Amino acid sequence: MNPIENMQQVLEQLQQSGNLRSLPSVVYDGRWVTNAEGVRMLNLASNDYLGLANELSLREEFLSEMTPAAFEPTSSSSRLLTGNKTAFVDLENQLAQMFQTEAALTFNSGYHVNTGLLPAVADANTVILADKLVHASLIDGIRLSAAKAVRYKHNDYAQLERLLRQYAPNASQIIIVTESVFSMDGDVADLPLLVQLKKQYDNVLLYVDEAHAFGVRGAQGLGYAEETGTMGDIDFLVGTFGKAAASAGAYWVGKRIIKDFLVNRMRTFIFTTALPPMCAQWTGFMLRHFPAFAERRQKLAELTSALSRGLEAKGYPALSQSHIVPLMVGDSKEAVRLAQCLQRKGFYVMPVRPPTVPEGTSRIRISLTADVMLSEVEAFLSNVPMASEVMKGGGR
Ligand SMILES: *Cc1c(COP(=O)(O)O)cnc(C)c1O
Repeated sequence: MNPIENMQQVLEQLQQSGNLRSLPSVVYDGRWVTNAEGVRMLNLASNDYLGLANELSLREEFLSEMTPAAFEPTSSSSRLLTGNKTAFVDLENQLAQMFQTEAALTFNSGYHVNTGLLPAVADANTVILADKLVHASLIDGIRLSAAKAVRYKHNDYAQLERLLRQYAPNASQIIIVTESVFSMDGDVADLPLLVQLKKQYDNVLLYVDEAHAFGVRGAQGLGYAEETGTMGDIDFLVGTFGKAAASAGAYWVGKRIIKDFLVNRMRTFIFTTALPPMCAQWTGFMLRHFPAFAERRQKLAELTSALSRGLEAKGYPALSQSHIVPLMVGDSKEAVRLAQCLQRKGFYVMPVRPPTVPEGTSRIRISLTADVMLSEVEAFLSNVPMASEVMKGGGR
């Protein structure tokens, strides 16, 4: 078989197992999504958690301060060459101040941070202990690093403790890697416990990805670390600007020495043209508003509890502790079928299937945003079938 025929065969296998992906052909209009058949659906699949991406008043305010001279659409270069524009320096100072850390560093995306940071800091004598459910970008970072890696069962801290006892005496360092709010189950890591575990050793570092918590959790919207009072104890506290912050890029915050080290060693920071400075300016503008978004965070929490309670009442397992709410189905084809059914009813939800989630745990992933209305959550719930009708195909 030639290589192209081989690809064809792989695609056919994906099709048969219900796991074939394709780019959605839909048109976006604010909170709404219209499909090729003209069905208009409420977007319940967006990462725009605070509902800011369509907020014209913010754009107007930003643009009123903007001039053609201040609008810089390109960095032309890596930060280390001629791309270290003032907008990045300002944004990093702003982040360090917000998080009350010595230093901050920004990146082109969360994918860049997660694929670049671990390879930079982990040598062959490092052991990485990562939660089984961390994001694909972290898995790629672990694979690109020289470290030995062990995945512990999702949020199983007894197992993590055993692994720490086993590896800490001989490793040069151990890096615990977790998300704070998990992408797919929407549950949270026990950050205070992780900090406590790490502090029992002098060679253990903690890496926390706040992609789904930044903007959403904490009094200032700084994330779940802020909410749990653990910000100062996390060595690699990272998050992205492309979700709740309605911008693009990502951050790390922590100690000055780590920043200097990353600037020297992190390939996904060094060998890429920095984002357009205007992105950093927009991010800085949005971050200045973060404390004022408290009402949106509150609204999101209310929508979340209404949705979670409603799904539980229909017999779905209550996994979520956040605005990301999985509707567990099990079988991939069944998940696709249910998503299509809900879409026909006017709710844009997407099936999540392997390899994004483990085999047999295909689900509909609902992500709530602060611009959804309570009445819309109720209407959605009334269209969701009972769990017993959909969970025939496998479950967890
Ligand atoms: C979205 C996401 C990323 C990637 O961030 P981008 O800025 O979109 O590249 C990383 N980690 C987690 C947990 C995410 O959900």
